[in-house]
Amino acid sequence: MADCIFCKIINREIPGNIVFETDDVIAFEDAHPNAPVHYLVVPKKHITCMNDINEEDIELMGKIQLAIKEVAKITGISESGYRVITNCGDDGGQMVKHIHYHVLGGKHLGCKIVHE
Ligand code: 5GP
Ligand code: ZN
Repeated sequence: MADCIFCKIINREIPGNIVFETDDVIAFEDAHPNAPVHYLVVPKKHITCMNDINEEDIELMGKIQLAIKEVAKITGISESGYRVITNCGDDGGQMVKHIHYHVLGGKHLGCKIVHE
C-alpha cells in the first residue's frame, strides 16, 4: 500500500534494521523501543489488523509464529523469555495500520499486560 510505512520498509523505500526475512514475513527493530529488545514481525502482505485476517491467511499466520520464534532466537531472548503483542484499532493503541507483532524482551517485563 502506497502510504504505508511498513510496506515502505518491506519494499526498501525507507531503511529498517532488518534481522529476519522470508518470502512472506519480515522482522525489523522498532524505531522507538519499549524494552531492551524490541522487534516487529510483519507479514509482507498488507493486512490492516486482526479484524482483516481471512481463511486464506491461515498459513501466513502460522509462518508469523515461526518467524517470531526465529527472531527471539536471533536476538538472544529465547531462553530469558519475551512477550508478543499485536494492537488492533484505536483502543488497542494501533498506530501503524499494517498488522504487526511486537516482540519484547531483554528484561523482566512484569506480570501486568496492561499498564495504566
Ligand atoms: P502500534 O502502536 O501500531 O502497535 O506500533 C507501531 C510501532 O511501530 C511503534 O512501536 C513505533 O515505534 C514503530 N514505528 C513507527 N514508525 C516506524 C518506522 O518508520 N520504523 C520502525 N522501525 N518502526 C516504526
Ligand atoms: Zn502496509
